[in-house]
Amino acid sequence: MYDYLIVGAGLYGAVCAQELTKKGYNVLVIEKRPNIGGNIYTEYTDGINVHKYGAHIFHTNDRKVWDYINGFATFNRYTNSPVANYRGELYSLPFNMYTFNRMWGVTTPDEARARIEEQKKDYIAKAAAKKGISPEEFEPANLEEQAISLVGTDIYEKLVKDYTMKQWGRPCTELPSFIIRRLPVRFTFDNNYFNALYQGIPVRGYTGMIANLLKNIEVKLNTDYLDPQVREAFSKKAANIIYTGPIDAYFDYKLGTLEYRSLRFETEKLVTPNFQGNAVINYTDADTPYTRIIEHKWFEFGLDQSGQEVPVTIISREYSHEWKPGEESYYPVNDDKNSRLYEDYRKLAEAETNVHFGGRLGEYKYYDMDTVIGKALSYTESIGQ
Ligand SMILES: Cc1cc2nc3c(=O)[nH]c(=O)nc-3n(C[C@H](O)[C@H](O)[C@H](O)COP(=O)(O)OP(=O)(O)OC[C@H]3O[C@@H](n4cnc5c(N)ncnc54)[C@H](O)[C@@H]3O)c2cc1C
Repeated sequence: MYDYLIVGAGLYGAVCAQELTKKGYNVLVIEKRPNIGGNIYTEYTDGINVHKYGAHIFHTNDRKVWDYINGFATFNRYTNSPVANYRGELYSLPFNMYTFNRMWGVTTPDEARARIEEQKKDYIAKAAAKKGISPEEFEPANLEEQAISLVGTDIYEKLVKDYTMKQWGRPCTELPSFIIRRLPVRFTFDNNYFNALYQGIPVRGYTGMIANLLKNIEVKLNTDYLDPQVREAFSKKAANIIYTGPIDAYFDYKLGTLEYRSLRFETEKLVTPNFQGNAVINYTDADTPYTRIIEHKWFEFGLDQSGQEVPVTIISREYSHEWKPGEESYYPVNDDKNSRLYEDYRKLAEAETNVHFGGRLGEYKYYDMDTVIGKALSYTESIGQ
């Protein structure tokens, strides 16, 4: 008999397994995929850690989480500095002095600020007039209005509009303004995308980090908890369950299906040492069907695990599309309809005895990795108190 059955060997499940084992509980992890790691799984091929479910950059301001995870991985000094490609014009991201210089030829923060202010003012005056209100009364009602009132028209047109349309499958005028409450705008030459104190990529990949979290813990792969026979057999074997799969699937979708935005990756190996010179390049025009190209080797400075330069490269083109049941779920759609449905499932989950729902699928929320670790630590700390 196990004290805990953990469904899912992703980050949430692995941190719970590690902490509960440390507390002396007897733990079994089951995972439906043939590998551990969930969506942060990396596969080491041709000397390159390939991020199979999308590019993952660890970043956090939480010292406790950073210290904790450094106990299971050594992080390199990778800093995310994506580049935007708009019809062959290359712009630095997040929007900063390099971006403004490329866009308008300006060289000082004051000039850049003035450009943005002028464009915002013009836009708001026109938009307010259309609505029959004064510019002071103008409140952005959709993503386009929100974005332009933050960064002006030029940046919006070239770097936000079509990229967002590709990501969400709908024009910015039909998307809620809350999606981009803030757009990072820096009047400095700082290309670091994340405002985080700590950042990096685990040396030996995320899979190595998860393997360390799960060291000496029993894990059964290719085991789907929702297969009726597995559920019947394994539920009897444990006093408690930590379930990190989709909450609606646990209840056999009886209230309806929670929706996601999905991704498709086209991954290829190229016999060249350097395809694009950066880990992440976003394609912000409407004609390029993919949103970005990831060149995985640059997360680790082009070196393999023994520190040798890798002579080939592996790239993934990332396409965003409407999710259909059965497909890999990536981004939850936290609109009113789905949020209400999740709330109903959450009430059902609360009524389950000895089952805890956690992680991004169990809670139907987009969480960065540091938040997932923090949540798993808080939850396991509360056990046995
Ligand atoms: C495209 C993309 C990019 C991202 N980039 C970043 C980033 O740069 N930085 C960052 O901090 N975060 C990033 N994230 C977020 C990160 O992926 C999550 O924080 C993390 O994966 C959540 O871990 P989890 O354990 O909650 O979920 P998961 O990784 O999904 O793990 C859940 C596990 O449960 C298993 N499972 C599900 N159902 C069953 C079942 N019935 N039986 C057995 N097993 C089951 C699944 O197979 C899976 O392995 C990104 C997310 C996406 C979608």
